[in-house]
Amino acid sequence: MPSVLWILFDGGGDRPSGGKTPFYVAFKPTIDYLTSLGSCGVLDPISPGVRPGSDTAHLALFGYDPYKYYTGRGAFEALGADVQLKPGDVAFRTNLATVDDSGTVIDRRAGRYIAPEEARAVEKVLNKIGEEVGRKYGVEVVYKSTVEHRGVLVLRGAVSHRVSDTDPHKVGAKLLRSEPLDNSKEAALTAEVVNEITRRFSEAAKELEINKTRRLEGRLPINAILLRGGGYMPQIEPIKERYNIKAAAIAGVALIRGVARAVGMDVYTAPGLGGTKDDKFDEALKLAVELMARYDLVFLHVKGTDSTSHDGDFNGKVSVIERLDKSLAPYLDKLLSNYLVVTSDHATPVSVKEHTGEPVPIMLYGPDVVTDDVAKFSELTCWRGALGRIRGLDVMPILGSYLGLTEKFGE
Ligand code: ZN
Ligand code: ZN
Repeated sequence: MPSVLWILFDGGGDRPSGGKTPFYVAFKPTIDYLTSLGSCGVLDPISPGVRPGSDTAHLALFGYDPYKYYTGRGAFEALGADVQLKPGDVAFRTNLATVDDSGTVIDRRAGRYIAPEEARAVEKVLNKIGEEVGRKYGVEVVYKSTVEHRGVLVLRGAVSHRVSDTDPHKVGAKLLRSEPLDNSKEAALTAEVVNEITRRFSEAAKELEINKTRRLEGRLPINAILLRGGGYMPQIEPIKERYNIKAAAIAGVALIRGVARAVGMDVYTAPGLGGTKDDKFDEALKLAVELMARYDLVFLHVKGTDSTSHDGDFNGKVSVIERLDKSLAPYLDKLLSNYLVVTSDHATPVSVKEHTGEPVPIMLYGPDVVTDDVAKFSELTCWRGALGRIRGLDVMPILGSYLGLTEKFGE
């Protein structure tokens, strides 16, 4: 049984500068060889002109309408941090921060460095506060620290994501009170719970041993938690049921791991794949090829193309693409008898340093896929290909059809 390897360059799409794009310039003989044998096209991740976030774009690419399933980043971030979520749970992204006596934010990241043992100490305090506040309001509260100052706060019970952030999103502004954004009693209760946890944490922080040490060392205390991006965990039919495709994802970025997990993919990590611009892909591709024996679809997320784009680093972006291709080369024979998809989740032009709404190139290779006359994978060439112009939501049905796994529509 053939299976699909799907390589996604996050923010890989670009606009021509000096007539060229990173995909066009990059030396990527393996991807280009398979491109010459397969079909190319352009892809609107959501729909023409919509500037996607990585989360909404991935939902669409995995075959789930983001307008139906996306309720904010928090839930996916929490899933990506290995927090178990149930449908209806509300999750926030959090920052540990420093505020002054008047509640004005001095540093949104509490000096940027938080040691793992400090994060664990905060986790303990916040979960204790969560337990007490939760008991009072009849909800379950879980806090989990993720990377450095970041974490997730999950509320379970009669709660709602329709509340405002407490994060003012800038220094020099006051820590905000969360307000309900609709008239439901769930939103009112959620805002109360959030505000009480926020207040109690700032109080408890005064007595925290780690803060005494941090002060002695001249470091900023951790004395506030900022919440943003509240979202609830939607009820999502797993990808195996919806498309009859058994899928795995390899990703280092928590948000992408979370989206993949939310749609029922098995999620893997690989050494070297931390989600940075310096990632190495040898181990990730080795794992991907191994997994192809057990899965119909193996998705590999490459973050570096997006990070370099946000930095405006054209050469860095080219280098990420070239490194990936080099690590892919040993598997050419294996790929020739399977399927390969290469695309992006959105364009992040290095000239703009932000996500933009134009389509991105896509290629599909397979032993039985039409060969068109495009021999180079890039924004400038894929327009001429046999796939034409498709949307993110079209990808899974196309793959399901080639794999012979989808049901016929009608008789
Ligand atoms: Zn992205
Ligand atoms: Zn980005």
